[in-house]
Amino acid sequence: MNSPNATPRIQIVQGDITKQQAAAIVNAANSSLLGGGGVDGAIHRAGGPQILEECRAIRARQGGCKTGEAVITTGGRLPATHVIHTVGPVWNGGHRGEPELLASCYRNSLRLAAEHQLASVAFPGISTGIYGYPKKEAAAIAVREVQQWLASHEFPGTVVFVAFDEENRRLYEQEVGAA
Ligand code: ADP
Repeated sequence: MNSPNATPRIQIVQGDITKQQAAAIVNAANSSLLGGGGVDGAIHRAGGPQILEECRAIRARQGGCKTGEAVITTGGRLPATHVIHTVGPVWNGGHRGEPELLASCYRNSLRLAAEHQLASVAFPGISTGIYGYPKKEAAAIAVREVQQWLASHEFPGTVVFVAFDEENRRLYEQEVGAA
């Protein structure tokens, strides 16, 4: 469902990110790039072995992915043609650089999408599952970073926030509405 408050280039949907028709979906990966639980596991399960193969190749080249950074693979069997894997910070109380690292995840993911001319990018709530980032604070950073990035870059595409549950959908709607 699109938020009535969303600006046209930002949409909010509730559901499973692996089903999204966006050009790219973003994975909340871990720094090993070898897969994990949560959305990471769902993406690898739905996308098939090709994604993991490409992740392994990236890992062999550059030794994984640091927190706040992002790498890109194709989408395997997913409807999305690409997956952007970014590593969110583990929440440790908020004074260990978590907000800035989470913001970098959004910026670096959008930079890769623009470099690869991907017209739509769908984000899950990076770090808000196993990594424990408070959902409200994470939604505020997500919306702020995407809005600032869209305002300052020539990117003709759209950004979709995919909320897995109703609580997250409401949080995104509030943040987009408040901006
Ligand atoms: P992290 O380790 O970065 O916290 P998780 O995968 O544990 O990553 O959770 C990130 C967010 O993704 C959580 O808000 C979780 O509810 C959500 N999520 C889990 N599975 C899916 C899915 N299939 N589609 C969209 N969001 C998902």
